[in-house]
Formats: sequence, C-alpha cells, structure tokens
Amino acid sequence: MSTLDPLQIINMIWELRRELDVLEDNTKSGVVPGAQLEQNLASRMLVPLDARLSKLTLICRAMWSLIQEKTGATEADLLRRITEIDGMDGRIDGRVMKPALKCPQCKGVVCRQFNRCLFCGYEPPSGDPFDGA
Ligand SMILES: [Zn+2]
Repeated sequence: MSTLDPLQIINMIWELRRELDVLEDNTKSGVVPGAQLEQNLASRMLVPLDARLSKLTLICRAMWSLIQEKTGATEADLLRRITEIDGMDGRIDGRVMKPALKCPQCKGVVCRQFNRCLFCGYEPPSGDPFDGA
C-alpha cells in the first residue's frame, strides 16, 4: 500500500479541480459527455481515499493496542473518551467538526479539513496538531 500524506491528498484534489475545469470546458463544447466526466472523477477519488482510510484504521488499531498494553485502559475508557471528544463541537454525531473560517484574503471559505482556502490557497496559522487530518 502506498503512503498518502495530507499534502499529497491536497495536491491530488487541486489537480482534480484543474482537470475538472478542463473536462467541463470540453463537456460544454461537446467533447466529453457529462456522465463520463462524473464517473471518471468519482473512480479516481475513491481509490486513494479508501487506501487512506484503511491505513488510518490500521494505525488507530495499532495505537489502541499499545495503549491498552501499556496503560491498562479498557474499551469502556475508550468509548467514554470518544463520546467526550465527539461532543466538543456541540453534537454527538460520530464526527469532529470545526467551524468554517472566512478567508482573510479573498473572503472565501477556508476548508478546515485541509486548513487551506480552496479559492486562493491561503493557509491560516496552525495551532492544532490535527489541522489537516
Ligand atoms: Zn482565500
């Protein structure tokens, strides 16, 4: 399995965005049918994301195994902590969401997942080790 770091994912999305622009132009001019365009983009994005998810799941399981072994923490401890962290954004929904930021340069939306403005590329200063995760 190849390693995908967050920068590679961001670059892949930027490349796909550029490719989408080109394909949309071609679609408008009748070169590529719209359905084929959507299918191509979906299949290219799903494979790397699935590989990334599998790797993160493996790392989480390995870390949890080590933590249990070294500290004696239990499944109940883990579930309680998951619920606490899940609720930090105000909702128990199985996700950790940060509120969107307004880009100070272009007034667009800074994607918190990538900690980068998707319109102009501005990167806000990071103070959270999980920014971009
Ligand atoms: Zn911006």
